[in-house]
Amino acid sequence: MHDLVIRGGTIVDGSGATRRVGDVAIDGDRITSVGDTAGAARREIDARGLLVTPGWVDIHTHYDGQATWDPYLTPSCWHGVTTVVMGNCGVGFAPAKPDQHAWLIGLMEGVEDIPGTALAEGLRWSWESFPEYLDALETMPRALDIAAQVPHGAVRAYVMGERGAKNEPATAADIAAMAVIVREGIEAGAVGFTTSRTMLHRAVDGEPVPGTYAAEDELLGIGRVLGELGRGVFELASDLMPEGNELAWMERFSAETGRPITFACLQNDIDPSQWRRLLDAAERAAAAGARVTPQIAARPTSLLLGLQTTAHPFIAHAGYREIAHLPLDERVRRLRDPAVRRRILDEQVQFESAIAAFVATAFHKLFPLGDPPDYEPSPESSIAAIARRAGKRAEEVAYDLLLERDGRALLYLPLLNYSGSDFEVIREMLEHPLAVIGLADGGAHCGLICDASTPTFLLTHWVRDRRRGERLPLEFIVNRQTRQTALLYDLHDRGLLAPGMKADVNVIDLDALLLAPPEMVFDLPAHGRRLIQKAKGYRMTVKSGQVVFEDGEATGALPGKVIRGPQRAATA
Ligand SMILES: [Zn+2]
Repeated sequence: MHDLVIRGGTIVDGSGATRRVGDVAIDGDRITSVGDTAGAARREIDARGLLVTPGWVDIHTHYDGQATWDPYLTPSCWHGVTTVVMGNCGVGFAPAKPDQHAWLIGLMEGVEDIPGTALAEGLRWSWESFPEYLDALETMPRALDIAAQVPHGAVRAYVMGERGAKNEPATAADIAAMAVIVREGIEAGAVGFTTSRTMLHRAVDGEPVPGTYAAEDELLGIGRVLGELGRGVFELASDLMPEGNELAWMERFSAETGRPITFACLQNDIDPSQWRRLLDAAERAAAAGARVTPQIAARPTSLLLGLQTTAHPFIAHAGYREIAHLPLDERVRRLRDPAVRRRILDEQVQFESAIAAFVATAFHKLFPLGDPPDYEPSPESSIAAIARRAGKRAEEVAYDLLLERDGRALLYLPLLNYSGSDFEVIREMLEHPLAVIGLADGGAHCGLICDASTPTFLLTHWVRDRRRGERLPLEFIVNRQTRQTALLYDLHDRGLLAPGMKADVNVIDLDALLLAPPEMVFDLPAHGRRLIQKAKGYRMTVKSGQVVFEDGEATGALPGKVIRGPQRAATA
């Protein structure tokens, strides 16, 4: 008698192999048979006509704070994710000296746009060292498995204090002390070390993440620990300036340590073919025996502009600022007043920064997101194009669109990966054998970005709905978001439906699968706001053999654990 049998589903096992119809049997937290007709079970799930896949493994999230108070990790859990890796991009909450708590919160708030008030109320700080942080995470029941990485920003401030926080160069003694901290984190079970080398990532005080300018001796001096221990991934977000130097040290790092290094790889409008050079560099590194892994996104990195989000085209207008503090419904009522509308549209505005000006005026790149959301809109549906056809100003069109859905409509500004106004570049990245899907940033960028739904989007858009270019095969896509992401982090026990593997399984109605538009909610601690996005069509998510979500509702089962280090594939 099995504990659980998922019967008669269309099994896409995560290996990339062709789908087949059959049963998946589960005993305890492990899969015991796949594809054959399984015997009786204490619980049976009728999966005829439904997809049966491994649970998604999302390797790029920022749930470091949320994981200490939220057992579910929404929104990722609503999208069939059963394993998350957090602590990316050099930011996190351990190690933490008692007098650095507010500073670490400011760093996370600045870099990842997670409300500081929510973090201040939510975090309990029952730890100082990284191992103590993992222990604290472990005391809490949870629905998903979580894996943590040691963030350079926290380590540098811990070891170097003010000098570290202010990005002063590290001495040999500093580097040695940081290496000790990282070693103790990795030995306790951290799955990687992460850093930030981009000017886009700044603390609330404007200072780039500690470590942003770290020299190669610091990066290698710390990173060598991964090589000595033979485990862990080095993750970074980099501006790649200068590109050649950055790629060269990454290759040297991996060749010397034998450990993989993974960096954010996205298309930007200033140098729209750089991504191809990055993929080529990964190939050259691979030929030389190094593992330099471009981490890619399945859709553009985009800002969502709306009356409840952090930015929209009229945020700097005096006529808007006067009513900006009002509750949404009241603001919408005022904005609908023709006199208010005329005043705001006629105002001349001085922008505080080039970025603010761009966000307020990039109408050729700004689109109505719609319901269901359209992430690959054609140039003819830009606000500039709509305005041209209607003989209106783009500002007028944007203004009126923002008031749709009672002021909850969102405008879509794809900043990266959309230079060609379609997804052909993303398709090439997705198809590249060395690239790995990440960058969904679950738990972060609460006021402007919401891409934690990426696993669902892979199925709805890339497998099923894409109209403006080729779609991608189901088996290929499932492999990319399960087995492939798991293997980068040496999680050999998951991402695959096979005997002996962790019983992390999704049962999905692909025909009914639907991505809702993102929405703003105020459910973080201290009523902090965040964008969330829901899905319909996940019939079941099974984690370690227990049904944790059923038709979008949590069952209350909390079998998730803190992952400690690499996981071996068990044999059945
Ligand atoms: Zn990140």
